[in-house]
Amino acid sequence: MIIDGKSIAEKIKNDLKTEILELKSKGIIPTLAVVLVGENSASKIYVRNKKKACEEIGIYSEEFNLPENTSEDELIDLIEKLNSNSDINGILVQLPLPLHINEKKIAEAIDPIKDVDVFNPINTGRLISGDTTLIPCTPKGIAELFDYEKISLKGKHCVIIGRSNIVGKPLAMLMLQKDATVTICHSKTKNLEKICQNADIIIAAIGKPKFITKNMVKNGCVIIDVGINRNKDGTICGDADFDEVKDIASYITPVPGGVGPMTIAMLLENTIITTKMQNNIDIKKGEI
Ligand code: NDP
Repeated sequence: MIIDGKSIAEKIKNDLKTEILELKSKGIIPTLAVVLVGENSASKIYVRNKKKACEEIGIYSEEFNLPENTSEDELIDLIEKLNSNSDINGILVQLPLPLHINEKKIAEAIDPIKDVDVFNPINTGRLISGDTTLIPCTPKGIAELFDYEKISLKGKHCVIIGRSNIVGKPLAMLMLQKDATVTICHSKTKNLEKICQNADIIIAAIGKPKFITKNMVKNGCVIIDVGINRNKDGTICGDADFDEVKDIASYITPVPGGVGPMTIAMLLENTIITTKMQNNIDIKKGEI
């Protein structure tokens, strides 16, 4: 079965619209600051899509475009201004940043209560200790897909390939909290094929096209494909060889139309959550 991330994301966005109307009736306009440094063309597309998604559901977004030669201090200055501006509820700094800017320092500069991407180590620490109020967008989107499809993780062997701070590591914590037995793999992992053959769930966040092939997948395995790879003709594909594995898997996410739209929906949800946190409004259970 193909998991239709796009339509699940649409449903979530529709529910968020109602929440936003409620906030607006209280005089609160959820506002997201989107900061882009430099001219990375993929980043420009991501920022455009995120802003469009905000507009669609009624979140106000303010864009800050800084030149490539912006210094680390200048960027931190802007973040501090946004931190202290009570009209701003969420701050998103699009990655990657130019090489002369330390991404860790930038993540630390964002006020944890406005950290919609959940990159600040205070928030990642909270996630590790079991506080799931704010969860990074891609891992959260994947957890929602499991919920929507009623796929239980309890006792399942979940193999995550990729150990980045934005996907693999927080995802492992989340899957662990949902009672999966988690194996995290990376470029130095030995016998990856064998490990995958034992997986009930494979989550691929590698960035290598068609990396997951049929010899790695056991019958009935759930495959969540996070990868976004650009083909020579400009189209995109995931980390799994979709045509080869789709009939072996019980569930699989397509690329595009799987994890990607969920990531954006979760960014919007996190913006509503931080807006509520700043206004001392209770967060409904379904939101976390
Ligand atoms: P990173 O490049 O930060 O991490 C890639 C991971 O894959 C690393 O941990 C790396 O291992 C591992 N890896 C690389 N080669 C191999 C290999 N041969 N065998 C096993 N593991 C390997 O990427 P991100 O986590 O940021 O993103 C991963 C992919 O997901 C990308 O395609 C990205 O575009 C996509 N993405 C999609 C999102 C969405 O919304 N759909 C959101 C975020 C990312 P090591 O640590 O040893 O180098």
